[in-house]
Amino acid sequence: MTLPTPSLRPSRKISVFVFAAAFASIALAVTAPVPPAQAQEMQWEDYAPRSTLVVEEHEVTRAKFPFVDAHAHQWGIAEMSAEEIAAMVADMDAMNMAVMVNLSGGSGEELQAKIAATDMHAPGRFVHYANIDFETLDDPDFGEKAAAQLEEDVRQGAKGLKIYKSLGMYIFYEDGTRLKTDDPKLDPIWQKAGELGIPVLIHTADPAPFWEPQDRFNERWFELKERPRRKRDPVPSWETLMTEHWNLIARHSNTIFLSAHLGWLGNDLGRLGSLLDKMPNMYTELGAVIGELGRQPHTAKAFLTKYQDRVLMGKDSWEPSEYYVYFRIFETADEYFPYYRKRHAFWSMYGMDLPDEVLRKIYYKNALEIIPGLDPALFPDS
Ligand SMILES: [Zn+2]
Repeated sequence: MTLPTPSLRPSRKISVFVFAAAFASIALAVTAPVPPAQAQEMQWEDYAPRSTLVVEEHEVTRAKFPFVDAHAHQWGIAEMSAEEIAAMVADMDAMNMAVMVNLSGGSGEELQAKIAATDMHAPGRFVHYANIDFETLDDPDFGEKAAAQLEEDVRQGAKGLKIYKSLGMYIFYEDGTRLKTDDPKLDPIWQKAGELGIPVLIHTADPAPFWEPQDRFNERWFELKERPRRKRDPVPSWETLMTEHWNLIARHSNTIFLSAHLGWLGNDLGRLGSLLDKMPNMYTELGAVIGELGRQPHTAKAFLTKYQDRVLMGKDSWEPSEYYVYFRIFETADEYFPYYRKRHAFWSMYGMDLPDEVLRKIYYKNALEIIPGLDPALFPDS
């Protein structure tokens, strides 16, 4: 501590005051409890500083245009009451969500029950994608049978096919061989989807850092700490799994594929862009990865402008207030505002201030192009 020197002293009275104040602060430091013990012992993952930045803020609780959520899951919608579905539709209306795509439709009777429930209680507001049951994979004609089931599911009202990440990672032949995403045995399914004119939304692998050592350099360290089961074995590698995914899309150019979660390339939009350039039948969506765009607003805005016909709005988990962060990133030029899930993004968000035409495409026009049977009347701007 430095006390004023005599030459700087404007008056003896002030100097005494300064000295007394300094002494008091020393005394306080001795007698007051040591700064809360947890300040030194707190774990890194508890650190949640409140930003002191003062800038304009524009909360957006309602999208500027009606939108389609191309990536949602409503497993139990057939068991929901009329009131529960009405409450969900009220939440959708409040944020301007015209249509929710339930990727978890299942197949056969399960799928039909979900379609019947929403047709009865909220016609036009939900669409359901079928899923593939891999139980009989070892049957020699598995691919043909699965394609026939898909055709039947679409006849019953399915509007797309959703493939879970189990394909590539957790589905094996009886002899223990891993079923690769681009295994030719599945070709009849992709071919059928193309013939039927339905999109295939396919989720392969996970964020690449799940394959990296969980050390202090790993950008998903916190997610792996909270969700340790997400740590992946080095083999098959992320690159291997995604290469199978890209091979599949390249090989079936008459089928539209939505590579889920920005194809896990939200952190490398240049690479994602070159894949989109190479494969005109490849689309992507934003489920659970908006935090990647929100940290690179300039690059992301250029990407979304260039690929405005290829990206669809998607959210993944159903929590209405979390959609507001998407809207704010798309529609405002706000700076350094929080994301809603620290394990995805411990960094802050920036808005992209997207032009209206780009917004319209991402919100609904691209969905109208590739998902059959959406009611254009729900999108009066179109
Ligand atoms: Zn999902």
